[in-house]
Amino acid sequence: MSESERTTPAPKSASTIPQILCPSWCERTQLEHAVELLRGDWDGRVIHQSRTVGDGWMLSSVTWPDGTPDPDDDLDDVVVMCPDSSTVPVVELAEIAWSLLALTMEAGA
Ligand SMILES: [Zn+2]
Repeated sequence: MSESERTTPAPKSASTIPQILCPSWCERTQLEHAVELLRGDWDGRVIHQSRTVGDGWMLSSVTWPDGTPDPDDDLDDVVVMCPDSSTVPVVELAEIAWSLLALTMEAGA
């Protein structure tokens, strides 16, 4: 194989979409990820989303297709999407959730 053959970029088509590695909580399908890659929605990355809890709380992360977090991303690797579409780092929301749980237990719920 010559140098030029190896470096020629392949045309973007469904057959060139790599296998996408999702975190265990991701509920999006390989097809949904393939579509966002083909459209270039996230500059070659994919967005993983969990099931929705309550009025629209869910986990979300943006990674390269092989599951590697984007080091240039200024968000934490995994964030919680709030119903108003703002995001909170998972650690921060976990603290809030534990505090709320403690409060509800104090209240005898
Ligand atoms: Zn995913």
